[in-house]
Amino acid sequence: MKVKFAGAAKTVTGSKHILQLWDNTTVLLDYGMYQGLGKDTYSLNASEIIDPKKVNALILSHAHIDHSGLIPKFVKDGYEGKIYCTPATYALCEIMLRDSAFIQEADVRYSNKRKGRTGKDAYEPLYTLADVDIALNQFEVIDTHEKFNVAPGVDATFIPNGHILGSAAVYLEIDEISEKSTLLFTGDIGRFNTSLIRDPECPPAADYVICESTYGDRLHNRNEDAEQELLEAVIDTLKRKRGKLIIPAFSLGRTQEIVFALNKLDLYGLLPDVKIYVDSPLATDATNITRDFSHLLNREVQRFAASRSDAFGFRKLTYIKRKEDSQALNFSKEPCVIISASGMADAGRVKHHIFHGIEDPSTTLLFVGYAEPMSLGGKLQRGEKEVTIFGETKRVKAEIRMITSLSAHGDYKEMIHYLSCQQPDKIKKLFLVHGDPDAQTSFKKHLEEAGFSAIFIPEMGESFEL
Ligand SMILES: [Zn+2]
Repeated sequence: MKVKFAGAAKTVTGSKHILQLWDNTTVLLDYGMYQGLGKDTYSLNASEIIDPKKVNALILSHAHIDHSGLIPKFVKDGYEGKIYCTPATYALCEIMLRDSAFIQEADVRYSNKRKGRTGKDAYEPLYTLADVDIALNQFEVIDTHEKFNVAPGVDATFIPNGHILGSAAVYLEIDEISEKSTLLFTGDIGRFNTSLIRDPECPPAADYVICESTYGDRLHNRNEDAEQELLEAVIDTLKRKRGKLIIPAFSLGRTQEIVFALNKLDLYGLLPDVKIYVDSPLATDATNITRDFSHLLNREVQRFAASRSDAFGFRKLTYIKRKEDSQALNFSKEPCVIISASGMADAGRVKHHIFHGIEDPSTTLLFVGYAEPMSLGGKLQRGEKEVTIFGETKRVKAEIRMITSLSAHGDYKEMIHYLSCQQPDKIKKLFLVHGDPDAQTSFKKHLEEAGFSAIFIPEMGESFEL
Protein backbone atom coordinates (compact mmCIF):
# COMPACT_ATOMS: atom_id res chain seq x y z
CA MET A 1 0.00 0.00 0.00
CA LYS A 2 0.88 3.65 -0.30
CA VAL A 3 0.37 6.69 1.86
CA LYS A 4 0.23 10.20 0.44
CA PHE A 5 0.43 13.31 2.60
CA ALA A 6 -1.96 15.75 0.97
CA GLY A 7 -2.10 18.31 3.80
CA ALA A 8 -0.66 19.23 7.21
CA ALA A 9 2.77 18.43 5.72
CA LYS A 10 5.36 20.77 7.25
CA THR A 11 2.49 22.93 8.47
CA VAL A 12 -0.16 22.60 11.17
CA THR A 13 -3.44 22.89 9.27
CA GLY A 14 -5.17 21.17 6.35
CA SER A 15 -4.83 17.64 7.74
CA LYS A 16 -5.44 15.09 4.91
CA HIS A 17 -3.73 11.75 4.43
CA ILE A 18 -4.54 9.26 1.70
CA LEU A 19 -4.07 5.54 2.14
CA GLN A 20 -4.19 3.46 -1.02
CA LEU A 21 -4.10 -0.35 -1.07
CA TRP A 22 -2.67 -2.44 -3.92
CA ASP A 23 -6.18 -2.89 -5.41
CA ASN A 24 -6.77 0.91 -5.32
CA THR A 25 -9.04 0.73 -2.27
CA THR A 26 -8.64 4.26 -0.92
CA VAL A 27 -9.21 5.52 2.61
CA LEU A 28 -8.82 9.12 3.71
CA LEU A 29 -7.72 10.13 7.17
CA ASP A 30 -9.22 13.55 7.89
CA TYR A 31 -10.16 16.18 5.33
CA GLY A 32 -9.24 19.43 7.00
CA MET A 33 -9.14 23.02 5.98
CA TYR A 34 -6.04 25.21 5.82
CA GLN A 35 -6.27 28.16 8.16
CA GLY A 36 -4.30 31.34 8.78
CA LEU A 37 -1.92 31.02 5.81
CA GLY A 38 -2.67 34.48 4.43
CA LYS A 39 -3.59 34.94 0.77
CA ASP A 40 -2.68 31.33 -0.18
CA THR A 41 -5.31 29.88 2.14
CA TYR A 42 -8.25 30.08 -0.26
CA SER A 43 -6.46 28.54 -3.27
CA LEU A 44 -5.03 25.72 -1.11
CA ASN A 45 -8.52 24.91 0.13
CA ALA A 46 -10.12 25.22 -3.30
CA SER A 47 -7.74 22.82 -5.09
CA GLU A 48 -8.78 19.20 -5.58
CA ILE A 49 -6.33 16.67 -4.18
CA ILE A 50 -8.07 13.46 -5.18
CA ASP A 51 -11.07 12.41 -7.28
CA PRO A 52 -13.85 12.02 -4.67
CA LYS A 53 -15.41 9.17 -6.69
CA LYS A 54 -12.29 7.07 -6.14
CA VAL A 55 -12.40 7.20 -2.34
CA ASN A 56 -14.00 4.31 -0.40
CA ALA A 57 -14.13 5.82 3.07
CA LEU A 58 -13.18 8.84 5.13
CA ILE A 59 -12.21 8.51 8.79
CA LEU A 60 -12.28 11.66 10.90
CA SER A 61 -10.07 11.95 13.99
CA HIS A 62 -11.81 14.98 15.53
CA ALA A 63 -14.03 17.97 14.90
CA HIS A 64 -11.46 20.78 14.63
CA ILE A 65 -11.90 22.57 11.32
CA ASP A 66 -8.28 21.98 10.30
CA HIS A 67 -9.19 18.26 10.32
CA SER A 68 -12.87 18.29 9.28
CA GLY A 69 -13.41 21.62 7.54
CA LEU A 70 -13.34 20.58 3.87
CA ILE A 71 -15.62 17.53 4.22
CA PRO A 72 -18.71 19.41 2.93
CA LYS A 73 -16.71 20.54 -0.13
CA PHE A 74 -15.56 16.96 -0.72
CA VAL A 75 -19.17 15.73 -0.65
CA LYS A 76 -20.25 18.63 -2.88
CA ASP A 77 -17.49 17.62 -5.33
CA GLY A 78 -18.90 14.09 -5.56
CA TYR A 79 -17.83 11.98 -2.57
CA GLU A 80 -20.59 9.46 -1.84
CA GLY A 81 -18.98 7.27 0.83
CA LYS A 82 -19.27 7.35 4.58
CA ILE A 83 -17.53 9.63 7.03
CA TYR A 84 -16.73 7.75 10.23
CA CYS A 85 -16.28 9.50 13.56
CA THR A 86 -17.11 9.22 17.27
CA PRO A 87 -20.53 10.41 18.60
CA ALA A 88 -19.12 13.59 20.21
CA THR A 89 -17.17 14.43 17.04
CA TYR A 90 -20.41 14.21 15.05
CA ALA A 91 -22.27 16.47 17.50
CA LEU A 92 -19.46 19.00 17.30
CA CYS A 93 -19.19 18.78 13.49
CA GLU A 94 -22.86 19.68 13.24
CA ILE A 95 -22.14 23.08 14.79
CA MET A 96 -18.57 23.62 13.61
CA LEU A 97 -19.19 22.89 9.92
CA ARG A 98 -22.35 25.00 9.89
CA ASP A 99 -20.40 27.82 11.50
CA SER A 100 -17.65 27.43 8.89
CA ALA A 101 -20.21 27.65 6.04
CA PHE A 102 -21.87 30.63 7.67
CA ILE A 103 -18.55 32.50 7.99
CA GLN A 104 -17.59 31.71 4.38
CA GLU A 105 -20.93 32.85 2.98
CA ALA A 106 -20.73 36.10 4.94
CA ASP A 107 -17.07 36.72 3.98
CA VAL A 108 -17.72 36.11 0.29
CA ARG A 109 -20.77 38.39 0.27
CA TYR A 110 -18.74 41.14 1.94
CA SER A 111 -15.74 40.71 -0.35
CA ASN A 112 -17.84 40.62 -3.55
CA LYS A 113 -19.74 43.72 -2.48
CA ARG A 114 -16.58 45.61 -1.58
CA LYS A 115 -14.82 44.80 -4.86
CA GLY A 116 -18.01 45.10 -6.96
CA ARG A 117 -17.71 41.53 -8.23
CA THR A 118 -20.82 40.14 -9.86
CA GLY A 119 -21.83 37.20 -12.05
CA LYS A 120 -18.93 35.00 -13.19
CA ASP A 121 -16.31 37.20 -11.47
CA ALA A 122 -17.89 36.84 -8.05
CA TYR A 123 -16.14 34.69 -5.43
CA GLU A 124 -18.01 31.64 -4.21
CA PRO A 125 -17.81 30.05 -0.78
CA LEU A 126 -16.15 26.61 -0.70
CA TYR A 127 -19.51 25.32 0.48
CA THR A 128 -22.82 26.54 1.87
CA LEU A 129 -25.06 25.61 4.78
CA ALA A 130 -27.06 23.38 2.40
CA ASP A 131 -23.86 21.51 1.45
CA VAL A 132 -23.11 20.93 5.15
CA ASP A 133 -26.53 19.36 5.69
CA ILE A 134 -25.97 16.97 2.77
CA ALA A 135 -22.51 16.01 4.07
CA LEU A 136 -23.81 15.40 7.60
CA ASN A 137 -26.12 12.72 6.18
CA GLN A 138 -23.05 10.72 5.17
CA PHE A 139 -21.57 10.67 8.69
CA GLU A 140 -21.64 7.38 10.55
CA VAL A 141 -21.07 7.40 14.27
CA ILE A 142 -18.90 4.69 15.84
CA ASP A 143 -18.15 4.31 19.55
CA THR A 144 -14.54 4.33 20.68
CA HIS A 145 -12.80 0.93 21.10
CA GLU A 146 -15.27 -0.65 18.66
CA LYS A 147 -13.60 -2.25 15.63
CA PHE A 148 -15.44 -1.47 12.38
CA ASN A 149 -14.91 -2.26 8.72
CA VAL A 150 -14.36 0.79 6.54
CA ALA A 151 -13.46 -0.76 3.18
CA PRO A 152 -12.49 -4.18 1.82
CA GLY A 153 -9.45 -5.26 3.85
CA VAL A 154 -9.46 -2.27 6.18
CA ASP A 155 -10.73 -2.31 9.78
CA ALA A 156 -10.51 0.69 12.09
CA THR A 157 -10.80 1.44 15.80
CA PHE A 158 -11.05 4.83 17.49
CA ILE A 159 -8.85 5.17 20.61
CA PRO A 160 -9.44 8.35 22.69
CA ASN A 161 -6.38 10.59 22.52
CA GLY A 162 -7.27 13.32 25.03
CA HIS A 163 -7.06 16.27 22.61
CA ILE A 164 -10.65 17.60 22.59
CA LEU A 165 -14.12 16.26 23.25
CA GLY A 166 -14.65 13.18 21.07
CA SER A 167 -11.13 13.18 19.60
CA ALA A 168 -9.49 9.85 18.87
CA ALA A 169 -6.49 8.24 17.29
CA VAL A 170 -7.32 5.89 14.42
CA TYR A 171 -5.86 2.38 14.59
CA LEU A 172 -6.07 0.57 11.25
CA GLU A 173 -5.71 -3.15 10.60
CA ILE A 174 -5.04 -3.69 6.91
CA ASP A 175 -5.24 -7.03 5.14
CA GLU A 176 -3.69 -6.95 1.68
CA ILE A 177 -3.78 -10.76 1.19
CA SER A 178 -0.02 -10.96 0.73
CA GLU A 179 0.61 -8.98 3.88
CA LYS A 180 -1.18 -7.84 7.01
CA SER A 181 -0.15 -4.60 8.63
CA THR A 182 -1.27 -2.03 11.16
CA LEU A 183 -1.17 1.74 11.03
CA LEU A 184 -1.72 4.24 13.79
CA PHE A 185 -2.81 7.78 12.94
CA THR A 186 -2.42 9.65 16.22
CA GLY A 187 -4.65 12.58 15.22
CA ASP A 188 -3.82 15.48 17.53
CA ILE A 189 -2.34 14.15 20.76
CA GLY A 190 -3.74 15.67 23.94
CA ARG A 191 -2.00 16.33 27.22
CA PHE A 192 -1.89 14.34 30.41
CA ASN A 193 -3.54 15.71 33.59
CA THR A 194 -5.35 18.51 31.79
CA SER A 195 -8.15 20.48 33.34
CA LEU A 196 -10.97 19.11 31.18
CA ILE A 197 -10.51 16.05 29.02
CA ARG A 198 -9.52 12.57 30.13
CA ASP A 199 -5.92 11.52 29.52
CA PRO A 200 -4.95 10.01 26.16
CA GLU A 201 -5.24 6.22 26.07
CA CYS A 202 -2.42 3.99 25.01
CA PRO A 203 -2.97 2.78 21.42
CA PRO A 204 -1.85 -0.73 20.36
CA ALA A 205 1.59 -1.09 18.78
CA ALA A 206 1.57 -0.50 15.02
CA ASP A 207 3.84 -1.17 12.03
CA TYR A 208 3.40 2.35 10.71
CA VAL A 209 2.71 5.53 12.65
CA ILE A 210 1.53 8.93 11.41
CA CYS A 211 2.18 11.21 14.33
CA GLU A 212 1.44 14.87 14.89
CA SER A 213 4.33 17.14 15.90
CA THR A 214 2.88 20.59 16.69
CA TYR A 215 4.95 21.06 19.86
CA GLY A 216 7.85 18.83 18.91
CA ASP A 217 10.30 21.47 20.13
CA ARG A 218 8.54 22.61 23.29
CA LEU A 219 7.84 21.75 26.90
CA HIS A 220 4.70 23.26 28.42
CA ASN A 221 4.46 24.81 31.85
CA ARG A 222 2.45 22.93 34.42
CA ASN A 223 -1.28 23.19 33.90
CA GLU A 224 -1.86 24.56 37.41
CA ASP A 225 0.24 27.64 36.59
CA ALA A 226 -2.44 28.69 34.11
CA GLU A 227 -5.06 29.35 36.78
CA GLN A 228 -2.68 31.62 38.68
CA GLU A 229 -1.69 33.50 35.51
CA LEU A 230 -5.35 33.88 34.55
CA LEU A 231 -6.20 35.25 37.98
CA GLU A 232 -3.31 37.73 37.83
CA ALA A 233 -4.46 38.96 34.41
CA VAL A 234 -8.04 39.43 35.69
CA ILE A 235 -7.01 41.33 38.81
CA ASP A 236 -4.36 43.44 37.08
CA THR A 237 -6.61 44.45 34.18
CA LEU A 238 -9.97 44.88 35.86
CA LYS A 239 -8.95 46.13 39.33
CA ARG A 240 -5.72 48.02 38.70
CA LYS A 241 -6.13 49.28 35.12
CA ARG A 242 -9.95 49.31 35.11
CA GLY A 243 -9.82 47.94 31.57
CA LYS A 244 -11.04 45.04 29.53
CA LEU A 245 -9.41 41.66 29.49
CA ILE A 246 -9.93 40.19 26.02
CA ILE A 247 -9.17 36.49 25.68
CA PRO A 248 -9.16 35.16 22.09
CA ALA A 249 -10.03 31.51 22.50
CA PHE A 250 -11.11 28.65 20.30
CA SER A 251 -14.84 28.10 20.76
CA LEU A 252 -14.35 24.47 21.48
CA GLY A 253 -12.04 23.31 24.23
CA ARG A 254 -10.10 26.39 25.22
CA THR A 255 -13.22 28.45 25.99
CA GLN A 256 -14.59 25.70 28.27
CA GLU A 257 -11.17 25.36 29.94
CA ILE A 258 -11.01 29.08 30.71
CA VAL A 259 -14.61 29.13 31.93
CA PHE A 260 -14.01 26.12 34.18
CA ALA A 261 -10.81 27.73 35.57
CA LEU A 262 -12.70 30.97 36.33
CA ASN A 263 -15.54 28.97 37.88
CA LYS A 264 -13.05 27.22 40.20
CA LEU A 265 -11.39 30.52 41.14
CA ASP A 266 -14.84 31.89 41.94
CA LEU A 267 -15.73 28.89 44.06
CA TYR A 268 -12.49 29.33 46.06
CA GLY A 269 -13.47 32.99 46.62
CA LEU A 270 -10.44 34.29 44.68
CA LEU A 271 -12.24 35.97 41.81
CA PRO A 272 -13.17 39.63 42.34
CA ASP A 273 -16.72 40.75 41.57
CA VAL A 274 -16.39 41.01 37.80
CA LYS A 275 -18.48 40.50 34.72
CA ILE A 276 -17.37 37.74 32.39
CA TYR A 277 -18.75 37.27 28.89
CA VAL A 278 -18.38 34.35 26.54
CA ASP A 279 -19.12 36.19 23.32
CA SER A 280 -19.54 33.52 20.68
CA PRO A 281 -22.64 31.65 19.54
CA LEU A 282 -20.43 28.73 18.54
CA ALA A 283 -18.76 28.60 21.97
CA THR A 284 -22.20 28.68 23.60
CA ASP A 285 -23.29 25.68 21.51
CA ALA A 286 -19.97 23.88 22.04
CA THR A 287 -20.38 24.35 25.80
CA ASN A 288 -23.83 22.74 25.65
CA ILE A 289 -22.39 19.76 23.77
CA THR A 290 -19.58 19.50 26.33
CA ARG A 291 -22.25 19.26 29.02
CA ASP A 292 -24.07 16.56 26.98
CA PHE A 293 -20.88 14.47 26.77
CA SER A 294 -19.69 15.12 30.31
CA HIS A 295 -18.81 11.41 30.69
CA LEU A 296 -15.81 12.14 28.45
CA LEU A 297 -14.48 14.76 30.86
CA ASN A 298 -12.00 14.00 33.62
CA ARG A 299 -12.95 13.15 37.19
CA GLU A 300 -12.22 16.63 38.55
CA VAL A 301 -14.79 18.26 36.25
CA GLN A 302 -17.35 15.58 37.03
CA ARG A 303 -16.83 15.97 40.78
CA PHE A 304 -17.00 19.75 40.46
CA ALA A 305 -20.22 19.58 38.43
CA ALA A 306 -21.72 17.26 41.03
CA SER A 307 -21.00 19.76 43.82
CA ARG A 308 -21.75 22.99 41.95
CA SER A 309 -24.33 21.74 39.46
CA ASP A 310 -22.66 23.29 36.40
CA ALA A 311 -18.94 23.30 35.59
CA PHE A 312 -19.51 25.84 32.81
CA GLY A 313 -21.92 28.30 34.36
CA PHE A 314 -21.90 30.61 37.39
CA ARG A 315 -23.41 33.91 38.46
CA LYS A 316 -20.68 36.22 37.09
CA LEU A 317 -20.73 34.59 33.67
CA THR A 318 -22.95 35.47 30.70
CA TYR A 319 -23.05 33.71 27.33
CA ILE A 320 -23.72 36.10 24.45
CA LYS A 321 -25.31 34.91 21.23
CA ARG A 322 -26.96 38.03 19.74
CA LYS A 323 -24.83 40.26 17.52
CA GLU A 324 -26.30 43.44 19.08
CA ASP A 325 -25.20 42.36 22.56
CA SER A 326 -21.71 41.65 21.23
CA GLN A 327 -21.51 45.06 19.55
CA ALA A 328 -22.68 46.75 22.75
CA LEU A 329 -19.60 45.35 24.51
CA ASN A 330 -17.33 47.16 22.04
CA PHE A 331 -18.69 50.53 23.12
CA SER A 332 -19.09 49.83 26.83
CA LYS A 333 -16.42 51.34 29.09
CA GLU A 334 -17.11 48.92 31.91
CA PRO A 335 -14.16 46.71 32.92
CA CYS A 336 -14.95 43.10 32.06
CA VAL A 337 -13.56 39.82 30.79
CA ILE A 338 -14.47 38.93 27.19
CA ILE A 339 -13.75 35.41 25.99
CA SER A 340 -14.35 35.26 22.27
CA ALA A 341 -13.36 33.39 19.10
CA SER A 342 -11.30 32.90 17.04
CA GLY A 343 -8.25 31.82 19.01
CA MET A 344 -5.89 33.17 16.34
CA ALA A 345 -7.84 36.47 16.34
CA ASP A 346 -8.02 36.26 12.56
CA ALA A 347 -11.79 36.19 12.35
CA GLY A 348 -14.93 36.22 14.46
CA ARG A 349 -16.16 38.64 17.08
CA VAL A 350 -12.87 38.83 18.96
CA LYS A 351 -11.36 40.66 15.99
CA HIS A 352 -13.90 43.45 16.55
CA HIS A 353 -13.13 43.57 20.27
CA ILE A 354 -9.41 43.82 19.50
CA PHE A 355 -10.06 46.46 16.82
CA HIS A 356 -11.83 48.64 19.41
CA GLY A 357 -9.46 48.00 22.33
CA ILE A 358 -5.98 47.62 20.90
CA GLU A 359 -5.02 51.31 21.10
CA ASP A 360 -6.11 51.56 24.74
CA PRO A 361 -3.37 50.80 27.30
CA SER A 362 -6.00 49.73 29.84
CA THR A 363 -6.89 46.76 27.60
CA THR A 364 -5.11 43.45 28.03
CA LEU A 365 -5.08 40.83 25.28
CA LEU A 366 -4.49 37.46 26.85
CA PHE A 367 -3.52 34.74 24.38
CA VAL A 368 -4.13 31.24 25.65
CA GLY A 369 -3.14 29.11 22.68
CA TYR A 370 -1.22 28.67 19.48
CA ALA A 371 -1.62 31.18 16.65
CA GLU A 372 -0.21 30.79 13.12
CA PRO A 373 2.67 33.29 12.73
CA MET A 374 0.85 34.99 9.80
CA SER A 375 -2.40 35.47 11.74
CA LEU A 376 -3.30 38.60 13.73
CA GLY A 377 -2.81 36.62 16.95
CA GLY A 378 0.62 35.45 15.77
CA LYS A 379 1.70 39.02 14.98
CA LEU A 380 0.53 40.31 18.37
CA GLN A 381 2.18 37.43 20.21
CA ARG A 382 5.42 38.29 18.42
CA GLY A 383 5.20 41.83 19.77
CA GLU A 384 4.55 43.75 16.54
CA LYS A 385 3.95 47.43 17.30
CA GLU A 386 1.52 48.03 14.43
CA VAL A 387 -1.06 45.72 12.91
CA THR A 388 -3.71 46.05 10.22
CA ILE A 389 -7.24 45.12 11.23
CA PHE A 390 -10.17 45.47 8.80
CA GLY A 391 -7.85 47.45 6.50
CA GLU A 392 -6.96 50.00 9.21
CA THR A 393 -3.50 50.36 10.71
CA LYS A 394 -3.65 50.21 14.49
CA ARG A 395 -0.89 50.96 17.01
CA VAL A 396 -0.58 48.27 19.63
CA LYS A 397 -0.93 50.01 22.99
CA ALA A 398 -2.82 47.24 24.75
CA GLU A 399 -0.83 44.95 27.01
CA ILE A 400 -0.13 41.55 25.48
CA ARG A 401 -0.01 38.55 27.80
CA MET A 402 0.28 34.86 27.12
CA ILE A 403 -0.53 31.64 28.90
CA THR A 404 1.36 28.87 27.18
CA SER A 405 0.48 25.91 29.39
CA LEU A 406 -3.12 25.51 28.22
CA SER A 407 -2.39 23.75 24.97
CA ALA A 408 -4.66 20.96 23.74
CA HIS A 409 -1.54 19.42 22.20
CA GLY A 410 1.00 17.48 24.19
CA ASP A 411 4.58 18.79 24.31
CA TYR A 412 7.39 16.59 23.02
CA LYS A 413 7.76 14.65 26.27
CA GLU A 414 4.02 13.99 26.40
CA MET A 415 3.98 12.88 22.75
CA ILE A 416 6.91 10.53 23.40
CA HIS A 417 5.10 9.25 26.50
CA TYR A 418 2.03 8.68 24.32
CA LEU A 419 4.16 6.69 21.88
CA SER A 420 5.71 4.64 24.68
CA CYS A 421 3.18 1.84 24.08
CA GLN A 422 4.66 1.42 20.61
CA GLN A 423 7.60 -0.89 20.00
CA PRO A 424 10.18 1.46 18.47
CA ASP A 425 12.22 -1.30 16.82
CA LYS A 426 9.09 -2.80 15.22
CA ILE A 427 7.92 0.45 13.60
CA LYS A 428 8.76 0.27 9.91
CA LYS A 429 8.10 3.94 9.19
CA LEU A 430 7.15 6.81 11.47
CA PHE A 431 5.87 9.94 9.74
CA LEU A 432 5.71 13.35 11.36
CA VAL A 433 2.86 15.58 10.24
CA HIS A 434 0.99 18.59 11.61
CA GLY A 435 4.01 20.65 12.64
CA ASP A 436 6.16 23.53 11.49
CA PRO A 437 9.53 22.43 10.07
CA ASP A 438 11.60 23.56 13.10
CA ALA A 439 9.32 21.74 15.54
CA GLN A 440 9.45 18.64 13.36
CA THR A 441 13.24 18.60 13.11
CA SER A 442 13.54 18.92 16.90
CA PHE A 443 10.91 16.26 17.51
CA LYS A 444 12.70 13.87 15.18
CA LYS A 445 15.87 14.29 17.28
CA HIS A 446 13.96 13.75 20.54
CA LEU A 447 12.34 10.63 19.11
CA GLU A 448 15.70 9.26 17.97
CA GLU A 449 17.08 9.83 21.46
CA ALA A 450 14.08 7.87 22.78
CA GLY A 451 14.97 4.91 20.54
CA PHE A 452 12.75 5.52 17.50
CA SER A 453 14.16 5.30 14.00
CA ALA A 454 12.96 5.35 10.37
CA ILE A 455 11.42 8.78 10.97
CA PHE A 456 10.24 10.77 7.96
CA ILE A 457 9.06 14.36 7.60
CA PRO A 458 6.94 14.31 4.42
CA GLU A 459 6.69 17.17 1.98
CA MET A 460 3.26 18.30 0.83
CA GLY A 461 1.97 15.80 -1.72
CA GLU A 462 4.76 13.27 -1.06
CA SER A 463 3.92 9.54 -1.26
CA PHE A 464 5.59 6.58 0.44
CA GLU A 465 5.36 2.85 -0.21
CA LEU A 466 4.47 0.96 2.95
ZN1 LIG B 1 -7.10 19.53 16.81
